[in-house]
Amino acid sequence: MPPHSTLGETPILTTSGDSVGSAGKEPSVRWQLAMKRAVRDPAELCQLLDLPQQFADAARRAAELFGLFVTREYLGRIGVGDPGDPLLRQVLPLDAEFDEIDGFVPDPLDEAHATPSPGLLHKYHSRALLVTTGACAIHCRYCFRRHFPYSTAPRSTADWRPAIQYLMEDTSIREVILSGGDPLTLVDDLLANLVAELQRIPHLTRLRVHTRLPIVIPQRVNDELLTWLKSTRLTPIVVVHVNHPQEIDSNVADALGRLVDAGIPVLNQAVLLAGVNDDADVLTTLSERLIDLRVMPYYLHLLDRVAATAHFEVGEAKARHLVHQLSERLPGYAVPRLARETAGEVSKTILV
Ligand SMILES: *Cc1c(COP(=O)(O)O)cnc(C)c1O
Ligand code: SF4
Repeated sequence: MPPHSTLGETPILTTSGDSVGSAGKEPSVRWQLAMKRAVRDPAELCQLLDLPQQFADAARRAAELFGLFVTREYLGRIGVGDPGDPLLRQVLPLDAEFDEIDGFVPDPLDEAHATPSPGLLHKYHSRALLVTTGACAIHCRYCFRRHFPYSTAPRSTADWRPAIQYLMEDTSIREVILSGGDPLTLVDDLLANLVAELQRIPHLTRLRVHTRLPIVIPQRVNDELLTWLKSTRLTPIVVVHVNHPQEIDSNVADALGRLVDAGIPVLNQAVLLAGVNDDADVLTTLSERLIDLRVMPYYLHLLDRVAATAHFEVGEAKARHLVHQLSERLPGYAVPRLARETAGEVSKTILV
């Protein structure tokens, strides 16, 4: 089975029976419909965006490595007829993905060795990351988990039991990070059940959610979601993922506003990507837009050296210079930390 072959395929059904109750109910169904209606066919994407046939041909080839998946909501923010559009570049499969470049490998972070229990990554002191699902609502071509063995990730609450047992036994863990894939591709009933189990672990105090859903399907931030996030004893923190200011339209702004209005701290992590956001003006606008929406820039990640993503790499010297330019232009709180992940380190490495 090719890596990621399950991604994006009807994630509502990947929960083996646990998800009953939400499907078919308005209004929660609206975001699930957005998943179903997402564009997966490279020819359709290129036709909708009026791109020449050669892009469709290349995209069809590279989509064999990692499928195309982009919601209509996100697609609507991509300029028509512009192969260089910074949002398109994040989702369009390219022939460059076939390039084999020294140092770019399937698992640069050696996550296979940080997995004490299926679907759990425990690399850093006091927090552990739960891979809740392999599904995402967008397939980012630069994704550091594009080669992750998701078939081993849990698919139902019963599958999470060993991870929950591990969390129970390690009293040094204070915070659980729901990640994936994207945890918010799971239905709220399932997530609420998971959180109910987690909050029974006495030494846990915080619940972090790493998600791109508020950006790619803003209607995902619905009342059901806010209810379980707000009603848990654990302190919730949401970390979203926006790389370019053009990703934030008025619906995204509203979705982020609903989270913040609910009293939830919202942070952003971005990945520094060649041809997308490796530009001081773009990064400045991104930070300003986020701050104005009460979302705090958190990390600007250097690309993990994952096979098939070399064409996105920005050199370290340029990256440092960009962040220096940001600190000259913005208040300190609006400057993200430039971070790199190195296998075996006790935290992400902060460069600036
Ligand atoms: C990035 C990451 C975290 C979170 O790190 P913070 O610096 O707390 O944001 C936790 N676990 C794993 C495995 C990670 O990759
Ligand atoms: S949303 Fe995150 S996990 Fe999913 S493809 Fe994009 S970068 Fe990867």
